[in-house]
Amino acid sequence: MSCSAGGTNPYICQMVGCFEPATEPIPLPEGEGNLFLCAKHRAQYLAGELSLRHIASMRARYIHDMRVKRLNRLYDERGNLCEILRRDDPIYRECFPDGFAQAYITHVDYHVVKGWHMHLKQKDHFFGVYGRAKVVLYDEREDSPTQGLINEIILTPERPLLVQIPERVWHGFMALSLEGAGILNFPTRLYDYADPDEYRRDPHTGGIPYSWAVKDR
Ligand SMILES: [Zn+2]
Repeated sequence: MSCSAGGTNPYICQMVGCFEPATEPIPLPEGEGNLFLCAKHRAQYLAGELSLRHIASMRARYIHDMRVKRLNRLYDERGNLCEILRRDDPIYRECFPDGFAQAYITHVDYHVVKGWHMHLKQKDHFFGVYGRAKVVLYDEREDSPTQGLINEIILTPERPLLVQIPERVWHGFMALSLEGAGILNFPTRLYDYADPDEYRRDPHTGGIPYSWAVKDR
C-alpha cells in the first residue's frame, strides 16, 4: 500500500459503482496482485456466485496511484460524525513526508468548472463537505500504465470519500447541485505564493479529451 506502488486502490471495493470499504485482500492466481472487495461482494465471490471473469469485466479502473477511500459516518440520536484524515492513517503516514501542510475549503457555484489544475510535487486529498461535485481526473503521464485514462468521481456527504490525486495528474471539479459544492482539500505541500506548484489549462479548450457537459441518458 505504499504511496508509489501502482495498481489498484486498496480502500474500496473494485466492483464498478460499489464504493463500500474493501475488506481483507484476496490474492489472485499467477501473481496478478490482490483483489479488493467489500464484505458483500467478497462473500459472493467466496460462495462461488461471482466468478473471477465476471469480476474482471465489472472491475473499476482507477488512475495509477490514485486512491479513493470510503469514510465512515457514525450516526446516533444527536446527529453524526465523520473522521476525514488521521495521523495514523496509511494515506497520511506514507503520503505526507513533511507532515501536515495546510487545509483549505474551496466552493464552486452550480455548473461552474474549476480546472484543469495539475501539480508536479503535490498530492491533493479531496473531501466533499456539502453539495454534490463531479471531480474529474485525467492521466497524461507518459510513464503511467493508465496514461490517457479519465476518472469521474462524485463527491457528496451522503457517501463520504477521501480522494487522493497523485502528482502530475490533471484534475478539476464542477458543482452539480444548485447550492454549489464545497470541497475540503489537504494538499501535501504548502502553497508557495512566490513559486506555486500549480499548472493550469482551460477547462474546455485545454486539449484534455473530456467534455464537462452533463450528458442526459
Ligand atoms: Zn462491493
